[in-house]
Amino acid sequence: MIDLHTHTTASDGTLSPEALIDLAADKGLQAIAITDHDTVGGIPAALERGKQRGVSVIAGVELGAQWEGAGQMHILGYYIDYKHPHLLERLSWLRARPRDRGEEIVKRLHAAGVMVTWDRVLQLAGAGSVGRPHVARALLEAGQVPSISEAFDRYLNPGTPGFLEKIQFTSSQAIELICSSGGTAVLAHPATLKLRNEGLEACIEELISEGLRGIEGYWSKHDKPEVSRYEELAAHFGLIMTGGSDFHGANKPTIELSAGLNGQLDEASVLRALKTRNTQALLQRCVVNLPV
Ligand code: AMP
Ligand code: FE
Ligand code: FE
Ligand code: ZN
Repeated sequence: MIDLHTHTTASDGTLSPEALIDLAADKGLQAIAITDHDTVGGIPAALERGKQRGVSVIAGVELGAQWEGAGQMHILGYYIDYKHPHLLERLSWLRARPRDRGEEIVKRLHAAGVMVTWDRVLQLAGAGSVGRPHVARALLEAGQVPSISEAFDRYLNPGTPGFLEKIQFTSSQAIELICSSGGTAVLAHPATLKLRNEGLEACIEELISEGLRGIEGYWSKHDKPEVSRYEELAAHFGLIMTGGSDFHGANKPTIELSAGLNGQLDEASVLRALKTRNTQALLQRCVVNLPV
């Protein structure tokens, strides 16, 4: 058993890297990938604990990518060099974006005569990354709106004074960052793209041209028909089929570590493919095309 998609307290999971490895060891997992959002901060501790507990730890990351459609696009990176200076610099740049955006939203609201304090927005976000929901709650508390949905409708949705796009990498930038730090790029939970048939195929083809090497066919919320579809697509495009639970601890209490993956993956071959493809990806593309 392996689980190739997990979050720790380094991003929005509730288990520390050590506690997550302990859980993996107790469940008898052979390998686990740590794929926190926008950070590799949990990896050193997980690797260390993995050695002690006999669990093989794969250094990973999960990046959001700009996506025009209704859903969301996330890209996973595996076997990345988690000490790579360029990777660390880009990730820390990325992690500063939500805060800057939140502050700018509050400034724009002030300019529009709407009172809400930045301090309160920050408090509401706590350790997590600031987003429009925190501004909405602060607006509600300040009596500026009668409800959260009104806060979005009047002040936070596109076309209103406080709307600002989220800053994310393009898929090509995300994949390139993963490749240039020696990793293999995999499309996370394809169902969240909310695409069907030709649309999905076209999207995957485009991602492959950008350096994508795998798709996460097995995921906690994929149903059987979806899994079969992703198996077909993986075979058709020669992609590595990976799987992971997207474990977040108590933040997503219905998702269990490695649940639903038991026996569905040929672990050794998936891991071998992820490891070797990364070298190929590097040779094919990224050495000649390092992002500046
Ligand atoms: P952000 O990532 O900062 O752009 O905020 C997006 C989040 O805002 C979404 O994940 C939703 O949880 C929340 N959201 C968006 N629109 C609404 C709405 N009309 N009412 C309540 N929550 C919303
Ligand atoms: Fe998450
Ligand atoms: Fe995700
Ligand atoms: Zn995830």
